[in-house]
Amino acid sequence: MKARMKAALSLALALALLLPLTGQMAVVPASAATQDQIDALRQDASDLDAQKAEIQAQLEAVQADKSQALEQKRLLEEQIEVIQAEIDNMDAQILAYDELISQKNAELEQTEAQEQEQFDLFCRRVRAMEEEGELSYWSVLFSSTDFSDLLDNYMMIEEIINYDNSVIETLQALQDTVEQERAEVEEAKAAQEAARQERQAAQDELEAQEAQVDQVIAEISSQEDLLEEMEAELQRAADAVDEQIRELERQMAPQISNVQSESGFLWPLDASINTLSSLYGSRQDPITGRPGNHTGIDIPAARGTPIYASKSGVVTTSVYGSGSAWSYGNYVVVSHSDGTSTLYAHMSSRAVSEGQTVSQGEVVGYVGTTGRSTGNHLHFEIRVNGSRTDPLYYFTDLTLYYRSGGQKVQLNL
Ligand SMILES: [Zn+2]
Repeated sequence: MKARMKAALSLALALALLLPLTGQMAVVPASAATQDQIDALRQDASDLDAQKAEIQAQLEAVQADKSQALEQKRLLEEQIEVIQAEIDNMDAQILAYDELISQKNAELEQTEAQEQEQFDLFCRRVRAMEEEGELSYWSVLFSSTDFSDLLDNYMMIEEIINYDNSVIETLQALQDTVEQERAEVEEAKAAQEAARQERQAAQDELEAQEAQVDQVIAEISSQEDLLEEMEAELQRAADAVDEQIRELERQMAPQISNVQSESGFLWPLDASINTLSSLYGSRQDPITGRPGNHTGIDIPAARGTPIYASKSGVVTTSVYGSGSAWSYGNYVVVSHSDGTSTLYAHMSSRAVSEGQTVSQGEVVGYVGTTGRSTGNHLHFEIRVNGSRTDPLYYFTDLTLYYRSGGQKVQLNL
């Protein structure tokens, strides 16, 4: 074999091998962009984590009345939205991983093709050498004219074989790397998919919670409707007893005028029982926004809690309500010499009888839930010359509270 031919063969071989390798190298930077995308998505995911934690903290702070239920619902919806965004983010990550995997697969196919190509080239070259003049590696060696030529030919064959081997080794290493990278990407994708399923389960759970909150809201709403209906009934009862009180006060006027009344009213329960569940008149209900019309104030207390005469006077009524007044259950009216009267309703039992004189602070009955009532409480009314007024007007020196569901606020009297 001539030196010229050797050089040409080596050059062709080198070119054939270098070109696909250059092409191969160009593939790698393309995947870097996709990895950047995934990193950016991961940053978004951690931002979402922070948002979610904040909402969770708020959610844990709320309990179960309507405004809180509505707040809870709002927070749950926000949380669902964040989780939805998380899921979208994970979907995008999974998609990016898919792209990365298909890219790795393409790289792998390319190196495999190059390996095959290199092997084919090697086989073709050996065949060509044989065809050209029965040039097998052996025949090349045996055709050597002298030892120097033999050595020359031997070196050339070895060079070709070594070169082929090193190229195939390089390709093999490349293939291993790509396969490993592909396995890593597939693992990352699988982890992402598992995380996605977890988030989906969390979202399902939140949606179930939201349905429960909706149920609570519906229950509270129907409870509100019931309370409004009860107030309307109490309104009718108050209207019915108004005339009755006036009539009894006319009849018992001499007796009433004999009992000197104090200038102020005494809180009808122990001072520690200072939280109202319902105010007089149009309730400023921040939840329903619906106007109420309440003839007195409601003060929840345990059944059997003593109720005190707010002012000295004469008991003009002590009955279990009948007719429209049924709504009041067991109730007592004390009429005072200054033209005012106090009414105590829903008692479990009455401690005074009609015509009896009572002193301020004397027990007139005990807290209960008789009549139209949903729980143990004192319904307390004050009339001035037969007209109902807001009892709180007379207790401006007290610190009183109003509780609606879980919220307790101090009243500005
Ligand atoms: Zn009431």
